[in-house]
Amino acid sequence: MENESCNTDQFDLNTLAYHRAGRHNNPSGTIIDVSGVKIGGREVVIMAGPCAVESQEQLLTTANAVQDLGGNILRGGAFKPRSSPYSFQGLEEEGLKLLKKARQQTGLPVITEVMDTRVVEMVCDYADVLQIGSRNMQNFPLLKEVGQCRKPVMLKRGMNATLDEYLLAAEYILAGGNPNVILCERGIRSFETAYRNTMDLNAVPMLKKLSHLPVIVDPSHGTGHAWMVPDLAKAAVAVGADGLLVEVHNNPDNALCDGPQSLSIQQFELMMEDLKILSKALGRGLYVSENAI
Ligand code: PEP
Ligand code: MN
Repeated sequence: MENESCNTDQFDLNTLAYHRAGRHNNPSGTIIDVSGVKIGGREVVIMAGPCAVESQEQLLTTANAVQDLGGNILRGGAFKPRSSPYSFQGLEEEGLKLLKKARQQTGLPVITEVMDTRVVEMVCDYADVLQIGSRNMQNFPLLKEVGQCRKPVMLKRGMNATLDEYLLAAEYILAGGNPNVILCERGIRSFETAYRNTMDLNAVPMLKKLSHLPVIVDPSHGTGHAWMVPDLAKAAVAVGADGLLVEVHNNPDNALCDGPQSLSIQQFELMMEDLKILSKALGRGLYVSENAI
């Protein structure tokens, strides 16, 4: 019967497979310290910035706005996993250097994607959090490699992955010796084509039931439409997400990557105002960074 096959009690039995990721390891939930920003506590953490680092002007303008408007962590890809080999692939180490500059200027820790075992060490030198993208969720050599890093890792859910496969992927990083794993629901593939992905907000309470790891939601990739992002961001906070990962760009119309789903600075400002009110009403509040300049 359908109800039985997705019975939570069965998942509870399965948690035996999640030796380290399972909720039983830390029933009150794990708080991960990202260079002073605490993820997994009562308050909602905001990670925001462009999909890709494109130039100094683009990154610094966006980073300053993110910091001004209450963001806690700056995002920006230097190595981009693009569907087409002819699309912008990222500035690579030059992009990492720009992230370092933005970090110095704003005081915001930075999160950036690593796709290749050969550059894990280099990305570790620049980033406060390593992002493993959806397409690499089951790249086992990469998971093992970041398991050996001292930096926190945010593992995004594979677009076709079940929660069981997802938590087992997290288990690889934990088993490798890195206890600082953050989960991120970023939408899954479904039959629906009206939006880029189907934002699986069911995953938030279920992951929090099954695991002690913090759960972030990415409504930018989850919807693919900037106009939908604030509503799904609010919904994510309402279902208990520990934070949000949101794409913001100083000029979305000319973005080299994911412009249609990127919020303008003004849209980000309006979303932050709404999130402040909502998170307060829920007895949470937005995280206030102490290190930000
Ligand atoms: C991103 O965060 O820019 C990204 C590529 O995300 P995902 O791996 O979820 O597609
Ligand atoms: Mn993107």
